[in-house]
Amino acid sequence: MPGKVEIRNIRKSYGSFVALNDVSLDIAPGEFLTLLGPSGSGKTTLLNVLAGFVRPDSGSITIDGTEFLTLPPHKRNLGMVFQNYALFPHMSVGRNVGYPLRLRGVPATEIERRVRDALDLVQMAHLADRSVDALSGGQRQRVALARAIVFEPSILLMDEPLSALDKKLREHMQLELKRLHNRLGTTTVYVTHDQREALTLSDRIAVVNGGRIAQLGTPDEIYDRPRNKFVADFIGETRFLPVEHGASGLSLYGRPLKARDEWKSFDGDTPWLVVRPERLRWYGEEADAANRIDAEATGIIYQGDSYLVTVRMPDGVEIDLRRGPDIAGKELLQRGQPVHLWLDREHTILVSDKP
Ligand code: ATP
Repeated sequence: MPGKVEIRNIRKSYGSFVALNDVSLDIAPGEFLTLLGPSGSGKTTLLNVLAGFVRPDSGSITIDGTEFLTLPPHKRNLGMVFQNYALFPHMSVGRNVGYPLRLRGVPATEIERRVRDALDLVQMAHLADRSVDALSGGQRQRVALARAIVFEPSILLMDEPLSALDKKLREHMQLELKRLHNRLGTTTVYVTHDQREALTLSDRIAVVNGGRIAQLGTPDEIYDRPRNKFVADFIGETRFLPVEHGASGLSLYGRPLKARDEWKSFDGDTPWLVVRPERLRWYGEEADAANRIDAEATGIIYQGDSYLVTVRMPDGVEIDLRRGPDIAGKELLQRGQPVHLWLDREHTILVSDKP
């Protein structure tokens, strides 16, 4: 089950609305690739094109070199998991998981063994005889996962599989999915609008916006090297500060600003400084004096594992920064207190609002 996917120039319109606009993407065998984007950006449409439920207007998809778009859905050898489980009600866990094998005419003893193995993998073997109607949300999603992998599909497609679960269970299931993927190595295409989930699970993330791929990269590339304002805004708790670009270089609130990368201006567009709450430094920490901002504290909130400190910038914009629980000088942090902030050059990321 290698599963190398080559997606080329896929377009799909609904009337005059372009849902997928010339999407090209390679997915390596065994890769966990996430389509991440806001609602309506085209993620599900692309997944449905892969699944064979939506026919694109043009473009091609090959899997291991074989044209895929002409194959009907049931010949594509895909495992699928959706948000709403789509299990057969009133049927036992074991019969649900065995269904794809019965469909493929696998002998009964073989079905029994493979169902047991798949249920073992998702830690549901002890509930094989229970009706799926009597399961919790997390358990149902495990059954759906077992049913999707039991026939060893070449590709696993998952559309927001965890979004119906509460936060704690969702985070737990993310780690289980990652463990399962490490073990099985099935090429996986995963859809979510949750950036943290995407960062946790993926080998690579394709950030989708308006039917196009805004950026494709590993989680740290997407987080640390966002290509534009949209990507920077979508990932992390991001705020933007306006940067001046004059003859003497870049400046922020009248002070010189040294960025990690040289600013490559496109038609004179404005650079924006990407500010993430965990990256701003303060007080006597090692600092690049050039990248200093004189701000004012307006609030401090203890959140157990960290403090969320709100500061007001010289132009009145308020932003949050996050510090560990043992921050120095927290007793000095009163409303109206001046605070000196710095951004080290490595984390001084500039983006443009052009795509
Ligand atoms: P969500 O996270 O909300 O599911 P998405 O990124 O998965 O969003 P898609 O479901 O791919 O978005 O939809 C992309 C766009 O295409 C949306 O604006 C949607 O309204 C439109 N669209 C999808 N299917 C159809 C259809 N059958 N007819 C008309 N428009 C459609």
